Amino acid sequence: MTGTSIPWGTDSDQRVTCIACGETVDRGDAREYDKHGDRWSREGKTFEYLCKPCDRDRCHQNRDGLEETLVAAGAGRTDRETFLERYCELTIDDDHD
Ligand SMILES: [Zn+2]
Repeated sequence: MTGTSIPWGTDSDQRVTCIACGETVDRGDAREYDKHGDRWSREGKTFEYLCKPCDRDRCHQNRDGLEETLVAAGAGRTDRETFLERYCELTIDDDHD
């Protein structure tokens, strides 16, 4: 994988652990995962991380409902602004689950 000696002490070189599979990856290669689903208030929070394969899995799962959400939001039937508004409402509802 890396094989190179990375100087420690800078944020960008941090190693993080994937919460799904336990793999240790470079922070830059990991995706932030906020278990609270609240991406808007990041202050003072500790993020968890997913490695790319696990992040991809997560996305696949989320996509199951995507088409439904798009239809419910009126994709292709409303103007763009209305659609985006509804789409945001629907996905935010989803997050709070
Ligand atoms: Zn993983």
